[in-house]
Amino acid sequence: MNRLKVVIGGVTVAVLVLFAAYLARDELQYRFVKASISAGMIAPDENPERFALYFCGTGTPRFHADRNQPCLLIVAGETTVLFDAGQGALWAMEAIQAPWINLDAVFLSHLHSDHMSGLGEVIQNGWVAGRRQALDIYGPPGTAAVIDGFRQLYAADVTERKPAFGYEPGQDASAHLWGAVDEVQIDDDDAHVVYAKKGLRISAFRVEHPRWTYAYGYSIEYKGKRVVFSGDTRATEAIVRHAKDADLLVHEAYNRNMMSTVARAVEDLDLNIDASVVEKIASVHTDTLALADIAERASVQRLVITHMIPPIPPNGLAETLFAAGMDEVYKGPLTLARDGLVIEL
Ligand SMILES: [Zn+2]
Ligand SMILES: [Zn+2]
Repeated sequence: MNRLKVVIGGVTVAVLVLFAAYLARDELQYRFVKASISAGMIAPDENPERFALYFCGTGTPRFHADRNQPCLLIVAGETTVLFDAGQGALWAMEAIQAPWINLDAVFLSHLHSDHMSGLGEVIQNGWVAGRRQALDIYGPPGTAAVIDGFRQLYAADVTERKPAFGYEPGQDASAHLWGAVDEVQIDDDDAHVVYAKKGLRISAFRVEHPRWTYAYGYSIEYKGKRVVFSGDTRATEAIVRHAKDADLLVHEAYNRNMMSTVARAVEDLDLNIDASVVEKIASVHTDTLALADIAERASVQRLVITHMIPPIPPNGLAETLFAAGMDEVYKGPLTLARDGLVIEL
């Protein structure tokens, strides 16, 4: 009998709660919507001292449920910049609440699709979603043609949306979309300053990503700290030279053992893929042990691996296997980035 009373009491409370929620439905809905919008669109207060990295994509061209294609957002005081924009980069930034709404500029390491196929959405859909300033784009020769392609792709969409966004008939929306395109052409081994505003200094230097004449790594300096981003590259002395004594080196890597396993599986499964392709992929990237040697010789304060080949699941076991042997060569702290990692310098 007592149990029955408890059950009836519980049901009564549940009904009352639901009734109260129903009466307050508009307010509840409003609070939910407001919280969702502010999470995605209101960036944290700008802190002039802040130098932070958001890893929005640590994957490769291969689909991986836990790793987006390359995407690295950096906040340096009042400035927000993005390095590479693979497929889904805008959603990837939103998913980890990286403050893309403040984006000022995008820097492309090279023009492989996994590094730029999401750029159109970053520019155009970012505008639709509330970013109002144009984005300046820096990249190797060929970047202007890519941006031109995006402009054509979105031309009708932009025209259709303008009235809804309060543009006068004939008023050009492109001032809020398409910023300057700076094709950076570097033909020597030096690092060249490509961006210097509000205390943030970004230099580009050439790396070796065979068959791309121009592929770049970037050195990013703010408030006396320096981050070096490799882009895609095979093991090159350029990184040792340009990352010397950096506070943080963000570098791609492939694991030779894992890739051999992939090649064997591809062969055994008799897939329509030549197993030698795996070796060809490896030849344009940096072996984990070679990377450890580079980081040690460059005396970098900290090494973070991104763009892992193969894209491993984000768990300790896979990461241990991927980084096997590196700690015998590189003595500093090593992190295997996962999507959502935020590093404050
Ligand atoms: Zn890549
Ligand atoms: Zn590449």
